[in-house]
Amino acid sequence: MDDEQGTRTPCIFCDIIAGRAPAHQVYADGGCVAFLDLFPITRGHVLVVPKRHVDRLTDLRPEEYSDLLRAVVEVCRRVERLSPDYNVAVNQGRLAGQIVFHLHFHVIPRYDVPGPFATTPRTRITESEAVSVGHALAGP
Ligand code: AMP
Ligand code: ZN
Repeated sequence: MDDEQGTRTPCIFCDIIAGRAPAHQVYADGGCVAFLDLFPITRGHVLVVPKRHVDRLTDLRPEEYSDLLRAVVEVCRRVERLSPDYNVAVNQGRLAGQIVFHLHFHVIPRYDVPGPFATTPRTRITESEAVSVGHALAGP
C-alpha cells in the first residue's frame, strides 16, 4: 500500500494483486480478486480481496461495499461446486486471528468433518492440488 508520501508498506496481498508475488487466482473483476489460500483450512479455501488496500471492513468506502459483496457471492457460488456447506469469515484485528492486514473474506468449504472452528494443523498447498482445485473454481 502507498501512503500520502508514496512510501510503500509491504503487503503480500498488494504484491499478489500487482503481480509481484505468485498466487492461484480463481476470480477477478474491476475491484476485487480471489485466490487460493496458501495454507488452506480445507480443499478450496479461497480469499476474496479488494484491490484497494484497506486494513479492515470499516475502512471501506460505502461505494465499495456492493462490489466486494458481489465478488464474495460469486466465489461462494463457485465453492458450492465443491460443497454446499462453507464458512464465510473475516478476521478483524490480531486477537481475532488477522495476520494479513489487507481486508479479505475467507470462503472455506466444509466437508464431512464437524466443528468448523476447531483448529487443525495447516500445511502449505501443493502445486498439483492448487492446479486441481483452481481448475474446479475457475470460470463463471
Ligand atoms: P487472516 O488470518 O484472516 O489474516 O488470514 C490470512 C490468510 O492468508 C491465512 O489463511 C494465510 O494462510 C493466507 N496467506 C498468507 N500469505 C498468503 C499468500 N502469499 N498467498 C495466499 N494466501 C496467503
Ligand atoms: Zn495490501
